[in-house]
Amino acid sequence: MENMKEYIEEAEKALLHTYNRYQVVLDKGDGVYLYDIEGKKYLDFCAGIAVFALGYNNKKYNDALKTQIDKLLHTSNYYYNVPAIEAAKKMKKVSGMDRIFFTNSGAEAIEGAIKAARKYAYLKDGSTDHEIIAMEHSFHGRTMGALSVTGNPKYREAFQPMIGNIRFAQMNDFESVLANVTDKTCAILFETVQGEGGIYPATCEFMEKVKALCEERDILLILDEIQCGMGRTGTMFAWQKYGIKPDIMTTAKALGCGVPVGAFMMTEKVGQNSLTSGDHGTTYGGNPFAAAAINAVIDLFEENHVLDNVNEVAPYLEKKLDELAAKHDCIVTRRGAGLMQGLVFNKPVGEIISKALENGLILINAGTDIIRFVPPLVITKENVDEMITILEKCIA
Ligand SMILES: *Cc1c(COP(=O)(O)O)cnc(C)c1O
Repeated sequence: MENMKEYIEEAEKALLHTYNRYQVVLDKGDGVYLYDIEGKKYLDFCAGIAVFALGYNNKKYNDALKTQIDKLLHTSNYYYNVPAIEAAKKMKKVSGMDRIFFTNSGAEAIEGAIKAARKYAYLKDGSTDHEIIAMEHSFHGRTMGALSVTGNPKYREAFQPMIGNIRFAQMNDFESVLANVTDKTCAILFETVQGEGGIYPATCEFMEKVKALCEERDILLILDEIQCGMGRTGTMFAWQKYGIKPDIMTTAKALGCGVPVGAFMMTEKVGQNSLTSGDHGTTYGGNPFAAAAINAVIDLFEENHVLDNVNEVAPYLEKKLDELAAKHDCIVTRRGAGLMQGLVFNKPVGEIISKALENGLILINAGTDIIRFVPPLVITKENVDEMITILEKCIA
């Protein structure tokens, strides 16, 4: 099979139809560009949904993975392995958190965070009816626990019942959080910057008030940094700009830059008073291959000054998107943080995104009316110009 249409037909016969896929078969990547199997080139402002931060085909990253493949791919978590020990040390350093558990995905990191919070509360009072407050319009993943805290009824409906004792408050509305707090509340969970739900950064006021409430009532603050973390907003983790610290945080997506890996991390206080031997496990999580990816990613972030690039290019992207919004009546506003931006339209954006694809630009939506910009963190201002030129053509 050579042509895309044939492959797509084959795919639709074999794959479970859980995605309405764009009509393209991607083949290879280089830097911030992707190529389909017919050789067409695309500028990628999606990065596999905020995953490929380093850009594609990074030689040092690829070599690190190849070296680890030839050495050792997997051992059980019943044994130690050097890449995982190094990755844990590095993660502690860049996050300021104390204890880490490696997972295979974002959803699993959320599952672990929920379990750690419930166990922490259980050890305090022995009761088993603790509550978690999550946010409307949040997204935390598709497994049953993660789905239970995802504030999108459409995703949950058919899969009821969810895990119990979840309450939903409004992001950036402290009063709505306060109204949901009870003696049973064990955790408050939200994304530092809501991704899928529409690119809403937490306000400083909201973050500070929730943190103060958590400290006062010994409620754990869980921040989901699966999408907004790993440098995307200009600090290694988005919460680091707020002058607070979560009790538990999750990461995934760009953590392995393509190798499926995630993690939940916690403070020493939670680490010493929650999950213990026998409470949680994973076959693959933090295996030598996944850990080698994390080590390469963190090293390359430093070596290539990735955060500096985000802080240099993001204001330019914001400016260009603001100019576009001012010029076109169909664009309502822009919002976001760093290289995680959303352009809000007054209509569904599906058609614009399809047109962009035809014109060699990969974009992704967030909800129906928002175009989400989560490019590789190594993009340049020239790439931004290139993107704007194509996008403007597709809007007109
Ligand atoms: C993608 C995402 C998840 C789920 O991660 P998976 O690896 O797809 O399970 C959870 N939370 C946020 C904020 C995400 O963006």
